[in-house]
Amino acid sequence: ALAIAGCEAASDRNNDSAPSGRNEAISGENVVIGMSLATLQEERWLKDRDIFIAAAEALGAEVQVQAANSNSARQIAQAENMISQGVDVLVIVPHDAAATAVIVEKAHAAGIKVMSYDRLIKDADVDLYVSFDNERVGEMQAEAIVSLVPEGSYAYIGGADSDNNAHLFKQGAFHILQPLIDNGSIRIVYDQFTEDWVPDNARESMEEALLANGRIDAVIAANDGMAGGVIQALTDQGLQGSIPVSGQDAELAALQRIVAGTQAMTVYKPIKKLAERAAELAVRLALNEPVATDKSVHNGKGNVPAILLDPVMVDRTSIDETVVKDGFHKREEIYAGA
Ligand code: BGC
Repeated sequence: ALAIAGCEAASDRNNDSAPSGRNEAISGENVVIGMSLATLQEERWLKDRDIFIAAAEALGAEVQVQAANSNSARQIAQAENMISQGVDVLVIVPHDAAATAVIVEKAHAAGIKVMSYDRLIKDADVDLYVSFDNERVGEMQAEAIVSLVPEGSYAYIGGADSDNNAHLFKQGAFHILQPLIDNGSIRIVYDQFTEDWVPDNARESMEEALLANGRIDAVIAANDGMAGGVIQALTDQGLQGSIPVSGQDAELAALQRIVAGTQAMTVYKPIKKLAERAAELAVRLALNEPVATDKSVHNGKGNVPAILLDPVMVDRTSIDETVVKDGFHKREEIYAGA
C-alpha cells in the first residue's frame, strides 16, 4: 500500500519534484496524528477522514480524529485537547481560516508541527499546506458555464466567507468572468457568500436572486451543496434544467443531477490522492523529516510550503472516464434514477 500511495502522488502533474528520499518507505510506528476536521457535512469529508486514517495506519501511525461541526470555538478546544494529549503532529481542516491561527501557535509552543489540509489556515506559521489547485477549481466552474451561456445575467453563489477556499474558488471564477464582464457580454446580478456552506442558505440566496432580478441565465455555485440548494430554488419555480448551474466535489447527488440535466457540471477532486499524500507527509512532519514542495502560498503571515493537486472537470460526457473510472462512485448509483 505504501509504494502505491507514493507512486500515485509522484505521477500527479503538479508535484513532480520528488523530495529526496521520497521513495524510501517511511515508518510511522509510534507516531500519533491528530486530525481536526471543520465539518463532516459534505460527503467528501467522510472519504478524507477514512482514507487518511487507512493510509496513516498502513504506515504504522495512529490517528485521533475530531470534527467541529462548523464551530470555530469547538475546533480550537478540540485541537487544544489533542495538543495537551501529546499528539506528534496536527492535521487541520480549518472552519475559520483566521481564527484557527491560534491552534498553530499553541501547537508550535508544544513542539508540534501543523499541516493545513485542503483549507489554508491564515496568518500563522503553518508548516505545510496540502490541497488542490483551488483557483483552478473556480476557473473550471466558470469556463464550463461560460461555454454554455456566453452572454447574459449571472448569479455567483459562493462558499463560506470564513473559508479561504471560498475566496480562491471565487478568484478563479472571476479570472474567466472578468474579461466578459468588461466587454459587456455578461453581468453579475447577484453575488453572495453562503454562511457555513449550508445548502439551505444557498437556496434562500437563489430565491432572493430570482426575486430581485426576474431573469437569471446562469449560476456559478461554488460546490455541490450550493448547487443543490440553488437547483431546489429553481425547481420550486419550474426553472430546473433551463439555467446551467456549476458545482464541485463530484457528490453522488450532483452526478445524478448532471445525468438528469439539472446541474451542468461538477469538479472532481481525487480525495484518495490528497488523503494518502497527506497521511505520508503528516508522518514525515511528525518525524521531523524533510518535506520537499515545489510551491508556496502566502497566507497573510508568510509563504507556506504547498502541494496542490489537480482538479478534474466533470460534465455529462465525462462521468465514465473520470469518477467512474477512478472508483469514486459506482456507475449504477450515478445512473440509478435515469
Ligand atoms: C472544500 C470543498 C467543500 C467545501 C465545503 C471547501 O473548503 O474545498 O471541497 O465542498 O469546503 O465543505
